[in-house]
Amino acid sequence: MSIFVAIFNFLYEIFLGCRHQHLTRPFTLQQQTYMVCLDCGKQIYYSPETMRPLTAREVRRMSVAQAGEVRIMPASVGVGVSAPTLVPARSRKPNAA
Ligand SMILES: [Zn+2]
Repeated sequence: MSIFVAIFNFLYEIFLGCRHQHLTRPFTLQQQTYMVCLDCGKQIYYSPETMRPLTAREVRRMSVAQAGEVRIMPASVGVGVSAPTLVPARSRKPNAA
């Protein structure tokens, strides 16, 4: 009987991919909480507030929020000269207005 289970699992992984059955415990690195599949290495994002994996929509919203927005901010180029430049949100100082 186990040979049928092995064949089923083999075909399942070929056609549908990893089922992520062997996961690490949730951990937080760089303000992201996720589990890692020990079979394929995929990161499965996890909510520490609700104690469950995030849905695909929640992962998209999180990645958009972390990507930040690009704003045009004046930067001082020289004495008396200012040119608007594109500044990614990550490189901005958080206390800069
Ligand atoms: Zn996996």
